[in-house]
Amino acid sequence: MTNTSNTSHKRFTLGISLKLFIAFWLVIITSVLISYLITMQFKQLPLQEQATPQQLKILVKFSEKVNDKEKVKLKELQRNFYRKYQQDLIIKRINNNRIYLPRKPGWFEIRNYLEKNPLNNPVTIDFGFAKVTSSQPIMIDGKQYQFFIAKEIHRKHIINLIKQLPVAIRILLLFSISFLCCWLLAKSFSKPLIAIQKASKDIGEGKLTTRITEFDQRSDEFGDLARSFNQMAEQLESNISAHQRLLGDVSHELRSPLTRLQLAVAMAEKNIGNTEEQQKHLNRCELEVERLDEMIADVLTLSRLEHNKNTCVFEEVNLNKLVNKIVNDGQYFATSKQVEVIFIEKLNYTISADEKLLASAISNVVNNAIKYSPVEQQVIVELKEQSNTIMLSISDNGSGVPESMIDKLFQPFFRVADARDRSSGGTGLGLAIAQQAISLHHGSIVAKNQSSGGLLITITLPLST
Ligand code: ADP
Repeated sequence: MTNTSNTSHKRFTLGISLKLFIAFWLVIITSVLISYLITMQFKQLPLQEQATPQQLKILVKFSEKVNDKEKVKLKELQRNFYRKYQQDLIIKRINNNRIYLPRKPGWFEIRNYLEKNPLNNPVTIDFGFAKVTSSQPIMIDGKQYQFFIAKEIHRKHIINLIKQLPVAIRILLLFSISFLCCWLLAKSFSKPLIAIQKASKDIGEGKLTTRITEFDQRSDEFGDLARSFNQMAEQLESNISAHQRLLGDVSHELRSPLTRLQLAVAMAEKNIGNTEEQQKHLNRCELEVERLDEMIADVLTLSRLEHNKNTCVFEEVNLNKLVNKIVNDGQYFATSKQVEVIFIEKLNYTISADEKLLASAISNVVNNAIKYSPVEQQVIVELKEQSNTIMLSISDNGSGVPESMIDKLFQPFFRVADARDRSSGGTGLGLAIAQQAISLHHGSIVAKNQSSGGLLITITLPLST
């Protein structure tokens, strides 16, 4: 499995690098060739200028010395000329158009030019790297020749240097430089793609901690892509670990009532015949089954809210009426504790909401406030508008929540003191469900300890959802 994935990764790496490289290289070579063909049309001929009398004098003088001589070696003539004048002598044999010139890089251009042009008049031709002065007719061994003098110009211009190189070397240079540039370009494009492909593969294989670290600091589009990828991986990891934690918590939480149920069943069996004892244990069984049912229902609700976000039915809801009803219902339970629930409403608000869902979230918070409120105290429910949002605050005078735990209040199964809340029958899922429900209404819910004591829960809802 790993072997196959390694091979496919290698194939991808090689494939993408090669494809990009070939594409870049082809584009460069073709554009160079096209531009060469186009510039060939406008290619400038070497500049012709008037021959300097000095050069002409040398040419005439040397020609007179050599003229009509026999058994003269051309190579030697050239050597002697160079020794004397530090310039090169170019000889052209007229009848076969053959040019004798020193082997120097780039001088093939001079050869081509002289082959094509008779140049009988006295001119100087500037080839960029050498100036050639023409020409003096001469007879050697009874054959007709033409003498030219070439004076090298040492202009250190890169173009001139390249011009002097033979065509094969120039083509090789073009191929090697373009090869290198294209390879580097292809690498710089393919590297991020390969890293993203590898990271996606790793995530697919379950390595959720995988992040792209090589080029996420880059300020270009690849950097953006890497950062988005990392953000996605982060979200995925946190979602999956939250689900794993939830699954672990659910199994753990289900075990406690099941154990108590088992125990109660065993006790009931043991007390067969003792009707009173048996009834007590059967009542316990019933209670634990109820708790199990309640917990499973809450887990299902939470899961439904997390996953089926589109199942809400939004309609126009009068918020004041809704909160009023919840407060009245809560008051019924609060009275038994001599707790008073006070509802302060400023304006009348109608919002678009899933009435049942919103009601369950608000009533959970109100019921908690009543549950954790000391006897003969007040629970204040206030509905007002602030910074273009609707704010519903629920406060009590209870013991509040330890500051270090306040952030965990909305996590599933979180309870401040296990024993106390277990005996009060809570599952620790109520606030988690409320948070999901409020967020489905594009709102938020926060908890804060009040300076005067007790917990303050604030639900914020947009004015028009
Ligand atoms: P439960 O079903 O246990 O009440 P919740 O999610 O509604 O679950 O609450 C989670 C925990 O938050 C509670 O167990 C309790 O410890 C704490 N809590 C919630 N509301 C209050 C409050 N008004 N005062 C103090 N503690 C609270």
